[in-house]
Amino acid sequence: MPVIQWTMSVEFFCLIVVIILMLNYYDRRWAASGQSRLYSVCLWLSAATIALNMACVFTIDHFHSFPLWVNLLLNSGYFALVLGMSTVTAYYLLRLILEHVYNSRCRRVLSVVLAALYAFYALLLLLNLRLGFIFYFDRSGVYCRGPLINVGYAVMGVELALLVLCALKNRRSISQPMRRVMQILPPTVVLLVIYQILYPDVLFNGSIIVAADMILLLNFQSRRVELDSLTCVGNRSSFYRDLSLRLGGKQQFQVIVVDIRQFGTVNQHYGQANGDALLYEAARWLDRLHSRGRAFRLGNVEFALLAPYGGMVSAGKLLEKVCDRFRRRWELGTLQIPLDVRFAELIYTDQDWSATDILEFLKYSISLSDQREDHLVRFDVSVYQQMERRRQTLLLMRRAVEEDRFQVWYQPVYHCASGTFCSAEALLRLRDDQGELVPPSLFIPLAEETGLIDRLSWIVLEQVCRLLSSDQVPQFQSVSINFSTQQFMSEEIIERITGCLNRYRLSPGRLKLEITERVLSEDMARMRTMMERLTALGLQFYLDDFGTGYSNLAGVLELPFACVKLDHSLISGYPDDERTSAMVDTMLDLFHAMDCQVVAEGVETSRQARAVTAKGADWIQGYYYARPMPPEELAEFFRRQEEKLEAR
Ligand code: C2E
Ligand code: CA
Ligand code: CA
Repeated sequence: MPVIQWTMSVEFFCLIVVIILMLNYYDRRWAASGQSRLYSVCLWLSAATIALNMACVFTIDHFHSFPLWVNLLLNSGYFALVLGMSTVTAYYLLRLILEHVYNSRCRRVLSVVLAALYAFYALLLLLNLRLGFIFYFDRSGVYCRGPLINVGYAVMGVELALLVLCALKNRRSISQPMRRVMQILPPTVVLLVIYQILYPDVLFNGSIIVAADMILLLNFQSRRVELDSLTCVGNRSSFYRDLSLRLGGKQQFQVIVVDIRQFGTVNQHYGQANGDALLYEAARWLDRLHSRGRAFRLGNVEFALLAPYGGMVSAGKLLEKVCDRFRRRWELGTLQIPLDVRFAELIYTDQDWSATDILEFLKYSISLSDQREDHLVRFDVSVYQQMERRRQTLLLMRRAVEEDRFQVWYQPVYHCASGTFCSAEALLRLRDDQGELVPPSLFIPLAEETGLIDRLSWIVLEQVCRLLSSDQVPQFQSVSINFSTQQFMSEEIIERITGCLNRYRLSPGRLKLEITERVLSEDMARMRTMMERLTALGLQFYLDDFGTGYSNLAGVLELPFACVKLDHSLISGYPDDERTSAMVDTMLDLFHAMDCQVVAEGVETSRQARAVTAKGADWIQGYYYARPMPPEELAEFFRRQEEKLEAR
């Protein structure tokens, strides 16, 4: 029987391939999810089916050596197993198709139909023992095909058709790899089955099974790329894909983002291995929190939980659970690790949002969470409007840079010893399309975040140098400019400043650079080098906003500052509030002892002006003496000052 022997070798080959798939698969049990367990069941059933098929071929071949009941039992078992395997595979496919669909009705209905189909087939197999319409053994014990030999294939066909229908119905929520599987698997199986029916003497079932298993494994391989290697939850791109699929299917969902801060200190205190273990635990905890929820690792220490939205009450409960858990200490063996965490929540019902929008909303909400006492921001209309305003401001700023619409205003600073306004602070001004001034407190932080501050600082530098070199305001011996972190990150700063001074033939002493503690906290060593290099060239540094919270006072005081500006917040309580007054007095003495001049900022009343002058402040900046003004008004300002002096 050469044909049978040849086909046996194909089956044998298929069995080896399935075993290789199983070994390979066990090697990669990166995430023992329900889905992957189901796939391993499929592989086991495949191997068992092929092995049983080979056993059947053997006993049919050697029917003289085996009693009839052995052959009957083995063949009935084989038919039952083939369809069992195909039904389990169909169920597995069904779960993959509906992986990104929260509505479970489709899954429930199809599961029942699949089970019913199998029960029907099992009944036929039982009846076949008596009636022999699928297969039978003739009097001499030879295997014969019955008229309904292909009924198993028909049932498989129905299963496949149901899956295709289900995939079509939920096509907007099917993942890309699954879409590929659904494009390749059904036609492949149908073609192979037709071949088998046309050439029944060729044993071909093993090949069909292997083809299906291979196609599915390829799907798994691409899924592996989407998983985060440390925590085994989905990564950022799979979060994006999942969001897109759910949005495509108009499914309502809730997203909770957990952003861990200062994780570097956790690593430092408890060791990198414990840090990793904590992240793993946290991700697994989130992943298991909701039966249909999935966790994702969006960034190094940022996680998201994506779960179906089942109304305000259950959404509120879920959010509370997450917040409660992360606000408590994480127990890791004997360790108890406290975490500094920010939360953001977003609920999608049927808004006109894309996945990119949602990621942006979440990012913005997290950025706002610092300002909230509970460190939680629930994305809503007001957050959206705030974000919109920001976006508009950013657009406005970009346009203003292009159209050269940024202005620099000057606030004259009073020199107490000489009684003159021989210095000023340069302050940026921006008008919106209606001509209204946009507060710097709104656009400066935005410019710092987006890197636009770099361009803005050079605009200010250029305008200040131009003003100083003109004879428009001869009264100003110097003007101070505000600098942000970004400027100090590049070597360019030195060249640009000296370049500008040279171009306008200005001595470096005419420019003062104001920096705040925020700038300093970034990289103290680098700042020191930069400051020393610029100081050596003759420029001077002012420490701005002093008194708004210093993290490293000793470090800051070691830097070469020529002058310190006491912040509004200190001056506003002066001289009535005893505590702040004591502080201001001490600071004045301290800085004078260090040979540092002092500017009192935000002086608004004559009482404050008199008090700080009496205490020895060197300079006074405040609305009491002068408000910031456009350069055109400076001449008028100085004219009025002269009038005042003459009047005295
Ligand atoms: P700042 O550097 O502390 O600037 C002083 C701020 O105090 C100015 O606000 C000024 O108008 C305000 N001010 C002056 N005297 C008084 C007073 O008596 N009472 C009160 N309540 N306020 C007074 P402005 O112009 O709104 O600027 C706000 C902040 O924006 C500045 O604070 C500075 O941090 C930033 N900024 C402004 N221009 C620039 C710039 O060109 N570059 C950078 N990096 N930041 C800038
Ligand atoms: Ca300033
Ligand atoms: Ca200031």
